[in-house]
Amino acid sequence: MKLITASFETMTGLPEFIGYTFIFLFGAAVGSFLNVVIHRVPNEESIVFPNSACPKCGKSIKPYDNIPILSWLILRGKCRNCNNTISPRYPAVEFLTALLFTLVYWQIGFSAFLPVGLIFAATMIALIFIDAENMILPNVITYPLLVFALLVRLIYPLIFGASFFSDFKIFPLIYLQEYPVWFVSLFGAILGGLIGGGSLWLVGEVWKRLRGVDAMGLGDVKMMFGVGALLGWQLTLLSIFLGAFSGAIIGIFLISRQKDKDMQTQIPFGIFLGIGSIISLLFGEQLVKWYLSMFVA
Ligand SMILES: [Zn+2]
Repeated sequence: MKLITASFETMTGLPEFIGYTFIFLFGAAVGSFLNVVIHRVPNEESIVFPNSACPKCGKSIKPYDNIPILSWLILRGKCRNCNNTISPRYPAVEFLTALLFTLVYWQIGFSAFLPVGLIFAATMIALIFIDAENMILPNVITYPLLVFALLVRLIYPLIFGASFFSDFKIFPLIYLQEYPVWFVSLFGAILGGLIGGGSLWLVGEVWKRLRGVDAMGLGDVKMMFGVGALLGWQLTLLSIFLGAFSGAIIGIFLISRQKDKDMQTQIPFGIFLGIGSIISLLFGEQLVKWYLSMFVA
């Protein structure tokens, strides 16, 4: 989403790289919190209490050993107490979140939509890693995502107008411009949700009738309902396309390496939907524009 952007420099008088440094460090700290979410939410544990502890020996981790990315490097991936290895997933999530926050800031800029982009990106990272590890997309994340998306689509247009949402510029919202902006926005959100969640649900149903197996989890449907509500129908279709494309490539690779060809290979599709949604948020409008330009001479 390319948006009207005020530069950090003109807003604060500080050089631009300060903004980038700050958002990177902020991302690393949020990544540290996402590690807790990824580890505890599937087990239905509290994400607030108790403090972080070593998953092997249970000893609580001191604040100076809990610095994102750095602590893992300094301790060489080992617990200070029991010397057991600590999964590289922890610094990986922290670094990925930091990198992604920097990309979101680069694309969205220092604007009112920045917090929305960051929350969306963080939510996708949590869902991707939970799906990879547990093959589930928990309701405690997908439902709040949908509520968040609907609130943003209701409140943002009332304060800032339509400029933050790309679906205002395309069919069918473009024909509804005589109606109140909040109504058009919510209409776009519900349409996006139905297209995102509905299309996945449909694919799952058809597959179930044809092959008699549950290919699509309801978690994927709920997740794409939330993504669709926030991004609108066009960017959501792009997310699903990008997800299916990358998922198919990885899927073919996994099946080709499988010895027993009859075995059902289960692929956590939420991972790829999450990746597709992040690419859509960052570069979706440019990708759609580029794609459409190929058909106009
Ligand atoms: Zn330990």
